[in-house]
Amino acid sequence: MEKRWKKYCSTIVLTALLTTIMVPAVSADDTDDQLAEYRRMQQQLKDDIANSKKEINNLTMEKNKNLQSLKAINDNLTQISQQIDLLNIDIANAESQIQVTETEINNKQQDLDGRLAIFNTRLKEIYMYGDVDFLEVLLQSSDLTDFLTRFEYLRYIAENDQRLLEEVKILKQALEDEKASLVTQKNDLEAKKAEHVSRSEELKVASAKQQEIISSIQGDIDEEMAMLDAFEEESNKIATQIVNLQSKNGTAPSASQFVWPCPSSKRVTSSYGMRTHPIKKTKSMHTGVDIGASSGSNIVAAAPGTVIMAAYNSAYGNYTIIDHGGGLSTMYAHQSAFVAKVGDTVMAGDVIGKVGSTGLSTGPHLHFEVRINGQHTSPNPYIGL
Ligand SMILES: [Zn+2]
Repeated sequence: MEKRWKKYCSTIVLTALLTTIMVPAVSADDTDDQLAEYRRMQQQLKDDIANSKKEINNLTMEKNKNLQSLKAINDNLTQISQQIDLLNIDIANAESQIQVTETEINNKQQDLDGRLAIFNTRLKEIYMYGDVDFLEVLLQSSDLTDFLTRFEYLRYIAENDQRLLEEVKILKQALEDEKASLVTQKNDLEAKKAEHVSRSEELKVASAKQQEIISSIQGDIDEEMAMLDAFEEESNKIATQIVNLQSKNGTAPSASQFVWPCPSSKRVTSSYGMRTHPIKKTKSMHTGVDIGASSGSNIVAAAPGTVIMAAYNSAYGNYTIIDHGGGLSTMYAHQSAFVAKVGDTVMAGDVIGKVGSTGLSTGPHLHFEVRINGQHTSPNPYIGL
């Protein structure tokens, strides 16, 4: 943040300087001083732009790294949510099984109660009123054998009742055990679910934090991009100032001193004058001549002079301006690479750059402009078109 604030300060200072320096020059010495100052500012801005781009790059990488972390967290969260869904199904199943078992237990209990009642009645029959029955049975029996048979029969029925009762008790106990096991199972599932839910809460917090970090980085990127725009705008303003100052010195070369700026190709794809723009599709002035050539082929200085600009802007891409003196300058746009740098003295035919398609361009070509006092003019008389 501190570094960024400093950069803003430097932009503000530069703007202030620019406003002060824009007072028209009188002597050649003043012009040279101003040019030196503009160049110094331009260099500073070039560094600022490079730093800004580097910073945007770093921030973007950091953002991507955090986006990956966020994705990992969210994937994990999705997985856990799916596991929770599955656990919920298992828990619901366990619950319904418990209910079924409970119903069965109740049925067995009713069965048991019924049998118990019958058994109790039987016991009463045999034992409580045993004496009476015994006497009756005894009296009604024709003999002792008959009596014993009847007595055995009653005892047999009671024993059978008791055995059935025991069987039902065992069945009921088995169901109780099954229910207990189901309850344990369900409790285990609930515990597992609780674990997952708390993990999912943790992940939700982590995800929110990660999103916050990403937003903060995006804020930094936006801020840095706004600064980059400001730097580029400033740089373009100064570039115009440099061109305006420089072109007024010396004597302009004559048309006969000019050479064709693209030795590998004579193919003019768009002439100087009004045309429909190939990208914007609007009628506008084409301020130079377009020469179609393969990417990487040589661009040469059309006339002797000094390189006063080797810069980038979004329309011209990489462009070079050569000052030929006497208010005359030439411009070479859309280059894939620079060869000559600012301050170089060049002769007509010296390689100054390579053909490319940078900036607003539909394919590799050289956009060549001739300017008088910074204003474009037809290049045709200079290059024999
Ligand atoms: Zn053009």
